[in-house]
Amino acid sequence: MTHRILIVEDTPTIAKVQKHIAVSCGYEADIAQSLAQAQELINEHSYFCAVVDFILPDAPNGDAIPVTVKAEIPTIVMTGNIDKRTRETVDKYPIIDYITKENKQAYQYLKKQLSRLPRNETVKVLVVEDSRHSRLYIKNLLCRHKYQVLEATDGIDALEVLKENPDISVIITDNEMPRMNGDELCSEIRRLYSNEDKVIIGVSGSNSAHLSARFLKCGANDYLRKPFNSEEFYCRLSLNVDMLDQIATIRLQANTDYLTKLPNRRYFFEQAKKAQKVRTVKNQRSQVAMIDIDHFKRINDDFGHDAGDDVLVAIAQVFAKFFPEQLLARLGGEEFVIYFDSNNEQENTDRLEQFRQFIELNSSSFTQYNIPFTISAGYVSIQEPEIDELLKEADKKLYEAKELGRNKIVL
Ligand code: GH3
Ligand code: MG
Ligand code: MG
Ligand code: MG
Repeated sequence: MTHRILIVEDTPTIAKVQKHIAVSCGYEADIAQSLAQAQELINEHSYFCAVVDFILPDAPNGDAIPVTVKAEIPTIVMTGNIDKRTRETVDKYPIIDYITKENKQAYQYLKKQLSRLPRNETVKVLVVEDSRHSRLYIKNLLCRHKYQVLEATDGIDALEVLKENPDISVIITDNEMPRMNGDELCSEIRRLYSNEDKVIIGVSGSNSAHLSARFLKCGANDYLRKPFNSEEFYCRLSLNVDMLDQIATIRLQANTDYLTKLPNRRYFFEQAKKAQKVRTVKNQRSQVAMIDIDHFKRINDDFGHDAGDDVLVAIAQVFAKFFPEQLLARLGGEEFVIYFDSNNEQENTDRLEQFRQFIELNSSSFTQYNIPFTISAGYVSIQEPEIDELLKEADKKLYEAKELGRNKIVL
């Protein structure tokens, strides 16, 4: 779903830049050059968020801010500068943020905020706080920035909620609570969950300088002393959530083949080894297939390396569609692998045969080069704890398929 944004700005060049930024973040953008125009647009459409200029011809003192805020549109205010009077006005309203246009980073910052808002909708935050009042305050701040919020009243309660909602990625926790304190909760979370999956921000009203250090030593990523101002809260939170995003991106890149976007060799071995352990304990057989494009070198030689790449991308897409439930990977070159999750051998080999036939019949339409090609595969179902040995056995079968004339599956 595309999100719609309202840009209220009377200087056409600035409005154009803001619209460009919004579109680059995936928004559909409407521009209003005055408060009156903004009001008309608000009556017509529902907006995901708004960027509102502080000074407009018909709203010279930030008077447009209460209008978008009242319409429950999350609002980012753009100000010329931030003098005392402007700040007082801005502080009166529950806005997302204000950005001073004079700042060199202003538009980069706007872009960051605009890309964070839709992202935040997917981020689950757990607020752990025994004081109902403080909990509500933090919850409101989070909701304003579109985070999903869950609540717990102490450490024990928090662990329960985490167990039921493993996709919570941020925990904001008070320290002084009945049953289990914040720092104890931190240690427990770090014992149970990886640092790369969950961010913890400690909060406390205590004046003790030791407490922030204790929180951090127990595994918290950050610390806020009560009472904190909303701006600081948002800055620390956003930076930490950005960090989780970056880790997720790096992790994905490390596990993905750059060309075909299939899982890569590294990921395959990591996952297959885990699955192998379970099978070994259960005394189960493992089923693996090695698949290789026939005479791929000729495709490169006859049509060029780029055409070869296109063939690899195309076959990877078909491959992923044929085996959505299985652990798949591009092992390298034109070689692919399947580690079957299912123990149903008949079903596995039937599916493999359907895949072979589909490639034989349809491959010429896969790319603009109309290159027909076939695949060979080796399939094994054996009790073997070592994944390398399993692949070796499957590779032998694949070699047999090649020897027998290719376009074949050897079981
Ligand atoms: P066979 O039927 O016996 O499998 O023959 P083949 O030609 O498919 O196998 P061979 O191992 O002789 O050649 C594989 C070729 O794949 C050689 C290599 O240059 C090419 N290749 C490996 N990785 C890539 C890639 O990422 N892109 C392209 N275009 N070619 C690649
Ligand atoms: Mg203006
Ligand atoms: Mg407390
Ligand atoms: Mg080959």
